[in-house]
Amino acid sequence: MLNVNVKHDPATAIQKLEQFGEFGGVNPSITDSSTFTFLGTETMEGTFHGETQGCFLYSRHWNPSNKYLSDALAAMEGTEAGWVTASGMAAITSAILQVCNAGDHIVSSVTTYGGTYAFLKFYLPKFNIETTFVDSTDLNAVSAAIKPNTKLIYTESITNPLLQISDIPALSEIAKRAGIRLMIDNTFSPMIIAPHLLGADIVVYSMTKFINGKNDCVAGAICGTKDFINSLIDLNHGTAMLLGPVLDPLRSSSILKNLHTLHIRMRQHSKNAMYLAENLQKIGVKAIYPGLPQHRGHETLKRIMNPDYGFGGMIAIDLATPQLANTFMEDIQKKGVGYLAVSLGYFKTLFSNSGKSTSSEIPESIQKEMGMSPGLVRFSVGLDNDIEHTFELIKSTLKDLKLIK
Ligand SMILES: *Cc1c(COP(=O)(O)O)cnc(C)c1O
Repeated sequence: MLNVNVKHDPATAIQKLEQFGEFGGVNPSITDSSTFTFLGTETMEGTFHGETQGCFLYSRHWNPSNKYLSDALAAMEGTEAGWVTASGMAAITSAILQVCNAGDHIVSSVTTYGGTYAFLKFYLPKFNIETTFVDSTDLNAVSAAIKPNTKLIYTESITNPLLQISDIPALSEIAKRAGIRLMIDNTFSPMIIAPHLLGADIVVYSMTKFINGKNDCVAGAICGTKDFINSLIDLNHGTAMLLGPVLDPLRSSSILKNLHTLHIRMRQHSKNAMYLAENLQKIGVKAIYPGLPQHRGHETLKRIMNPDYGFGGMIAIDLATPQLANTFMEDIQKKGVGYLAVSLGYFKTLFSNSGKSTSSEIPESIQKEMGMSPGLVRFSVGLDNDIEHTFELIKSTLKDLKLIK
């Protein structure tokens, strides 16, 4: 049984790791090899059969750079193990395909990243894996959707783009009662939420976003039990081993360095987002931000979050029509607020119209059902040192467009 009160400090867990490399560099040596030598044939055979520990065989399976990063992520999440992939989608699809076989069923939140939605809705049916989409904040709906062949409940801790909050402990209880697994995409809230410690079996990430925080690469991660990670890279049955979505070790090495500043960045993203959300609210603009008391998931988030890192760096505002949203975004880009771009977790503020970009895989009728306005502008708030000035720029554009007085 999970204990929400156990204090897990993800930043300290990462900080405490020590990797003394061959030459003692403060950063571990980068693995620049796809294959590894063995001093004897016996060790090679043993490694192939998984009996010899601590040896590396081939980089699609494991390599030291990926191991260092995976260990740091597992420390952050409080899981036994982790494995890093070449994209967030690679992490999500590999983990799902490892859990589900032909004929199985998934219960998923209807508000998920567009690529995940498309994978569940359009791609998995070709393997005869069906998904029922529900509002994952409606626990009764989640329970009611579970069938005898359901293997997995899937959702995001803070969902994209409406920033709904998943009650992970409650979802975990539902999953445990049904004898199935709970998988959580924690891309929007690393460190803020520790899904595994709240009862999730598998945690997936797009490291492209906050974890790496530089928008210089795509990458992903899967965290879970040792057994699950080993099953993913099993030579005969492992989805990750056989589909081969491994992350390049050069990238692992650079992401590991960025991971060490994640706690400082998350605090600043959260602080800036809170400032914008509160001040937008004050001037009469409806801001969707889980840090605001009027947000539907505010109390849930307060109950499950690590308060050291704030309420996250994502906010959304509803400008009603795509035309208004477009004019607004072009204007604030000209003023220097940030960039009109998809993705998130960057040091500059990024903004896009969700319905026309990151959620465009989701049919418009479903977008409506989800409560997603066609004029929704999603912000990934940057690390601005002068957020007051950024707010003034946004406010002046809102005034010019007569959206406020
Ligand atoms: C971006 C994103 C993904 C996909 O990750 P990639 O690294 O682009 O493959 C999955 N889930 C969420 C919540 C995301 O924001």
